[in-house]
Amino acid sequence: MKKALSIYIHIPFCVRKCAYCDFLSAPATREVQEQYLHMLMREIHEKAARYAKEYVVKTIFIGGGTPTSVDADLLCQVLEKVKAQFEVSVDAEISMECNPGTADKIAFKKYCQAGVNRLSIGLQSTQNHLLQKLGRIHTFEQFLDTYQGAREAGFTNINIDLMSALPGQTLADYEQTLREVLALKPEHISAYSLIVEEGTPFYDMELNLLDEDTERMMYELTEKLLSEHGYHRYEISNYARKGMECKHNQVYWERGEYLGLGLGASSFLKLPWKDDAPSEKEVRLRNNSNLKTYLDSDFSYEEELVLTGREAMEEFFFLGLRQMKGVSLIQFAEEFGEDTIEWFYDAIGQNVRDGLLVQEGGMLFLTKKGIDVSNLVFERFLE
Ligand code: SF4
Repeated sequence: MKKALSIYIHIPFCVRKCAYCDFLSAPATREVQEQYLHMLMREIHEKAARYAKEYVVKTIFIGGGTPTSVDADLLCQVLEKVKAQFEVSVDAEISMECNPGTADKIAFKKYCQAGVNRLSIGLQSTQNHLLQKLGRIHTFEQFLDTYQGAREAGFTNINIDLMSALPGQTLADYEQTLREVLALKPEHISAYSLIVEEGTPFYDMELNLLDEDTERMMYELTEKLLSEHGYHRYEISNYARKGMECKHNQVYWERGEYLGLGLGASSFLKLPWKDDAPSEKEVRLRNNSNLKTYLDSDFSYEEELVLTGREAMEEFFFLGLRQMKGVSLIQFAEEFGEDTIEWFYDAIGQNVRDGLLVQEGGMLFLTKKGIDVSNLVFERFLE
């Protein structure tokens, strides 16, 4: 039987770099973008020859960067190429990231026709002075036009990305952002707090960062307002209307297999140790991240890590526990053997005693207190 696969396609271009962003993305000329998309199609061809026959594709995610900043027709061709080379399920979830001001109704119609059925729009805040501070290219008004264009083109599954703990952001600003977004009734909302990453312009700036109490209040307000409006939290930072959870991201948290295509894209695959060997190794791979050599058709992996049994078990906990439903200890025993759970008795016991995890009906999941300090909970599972 064929195995389920998710595909991630990376478009590493943005109109301008945001001040807090450490993703693999940069502005580029139209010519470079076009060369890249042609190379991407070649990579799809090569990787399909290697992997396609084992799998049925259940989800596709086109991310970046800003996928909607490149030529819409060429991007649709990339998607067509995936569909031609891989067996893609008729009901596959096909998501695409979009930034306000980079796509209009005509482009959205093209994406819809090419099979994209879920859109993720980066808004971050509804206050223009905060968007400007973040170095975003758009205003709230431009976001509204983009959102409306997407709805009119037929998108019925839209996520809006938000950020809290922004420098200079007040609790009232954040509440206004949440309320204005809720009024639009998106199917899904992602709400992350700002993390100032090394190597970004924000890192070298004197920022008026928020105190811990305000950050916590924003965090609590998100859950309160969103649940009052019918969104359930299904992962630490992700909320959805029932049945509208992002299937692609669930694959990451549940350690399903995914193939990354494009510059610097990551994959997680379960491959045979040798040709036709029955046992499999779990491998995390990262594509070449040098644009110049990628454009010379270097589709090699620059990182290849075969997980040890212990690493796979640790991942099972620290990825799976991000989801509010938690992890199944029965599934753990099935995957890794009955005895190995003993290796994690201390971590489980300590977290349960501290009120950070609850064990109930064979499931282990975060408490409200555990969500607040989830990094501490996860660290305890690491050797
Ligand atoms: S739009 Fe997204 S990927 Fe592009 S620079 Fe801004 S945060 Fe980074």
